[in-house]
Amino acid sequence: MEDLKQNLALLLELQNCDVKISDANKQISLAPGLIEQKNRILDDKKAELREKKKKYAELASSTKEKEFLLDDKEKGIKKYFVELNAVKSNDIYKILLLEIEKAKVDKSVLEDELLALMENVDEEYAKIKAAENELQKFEENIKKEITDIENNVNKLMEEVVALEKIKEERKSKVNKSILSHYDRLKTGRDGRGMAVVDGESCGCCGMVLRTQLINQALKGQDLVFCDNCSRILFKKDAL
Ligand SMILES: [Zn+2]
Repeated sequence: MEDLKQNLALLLELQNCDVKISDANKQISLAPGLIEQKNRILDDKKAELREKKKKYAELASSTKEKEFLLDDKEKGIKKYFVELNAVKSNDIYKILLLEIEKAKVDKSVLEDELLALMENVDEEYAKIKAAENELQKFEENIKKEITDIENNVNKLMEEVVALEKIKEERKSKVNKSILSHYDRLKTGRDGRGMAVVDGESCGCCGMVLRTQLINQALKGQDLVFCDNCSRILFKKDAL
C-alpha cells in the first residue's frame, strides 16, 4: 500500500506546517504584551527622571530663599552700623553692638548653609545630566528592541502565509477520509494528529506501544493508532 505511505508522508508535512504555524502564532500573540512591557519600563524610567528634576528644582529654590535671607541679614547689619553712628546713649550703643555680633553669627550660619546647599545643587545637577544621558541610551535600546519585535512579527506573519499555502497544497493531495481523521485527531492534541514511533514508545504521549502496533506501523498498510493518545502512528523509515 504505497498509497497509504504517501498519504502519511503528506499528513506529516501538513502536521509540520501546523506546528510551525501554531508556534509562529504563539510568538505573534505574545508580541504586543512584550512591547507594552518594554514601554512601561521606559515610562517608569522617565517618571524617575521627572521626580529627580522636581527635587532638583526644590533644592534650587531653597538655595534662592537662603540667598534672600543672607541678603536681608547683610542689610540688617549695615542698618545697625548706621544706627550705631547716630546713637547717643552708651547703653543703646552696647545693645546695638550685641545685636551686630548676633547678626554676624546668624550670617555666618546662613553662609555655611548656603555653601552646603550650592554644593548639593551642583551634585544633583551632575546626577540629572548623567541620568538624562543614561535614559537617552536606554530609550534608543528599547526602541530598537521594539522594532526588532515588530520586524520579527512581520517575518512570522509572512511565514504563516507561506506555510498556509504549503498546507493547502498538501491537503489537496491527501486522501479526504484520512485527512478528516487527522483533522479530528489533532484537535485538543497540541495540534498534532500524528505521532512517530520512537523506539518502543509513542513519540507524543510516551506510552509503550504493543509490538503488533509497531510492526503494523512499519508495514504502513493500515492506519494504526496509539492506544493511549489515539494519534495516527508512523515509523519514520517506513514513509
Ligand atoms: Zn500516544
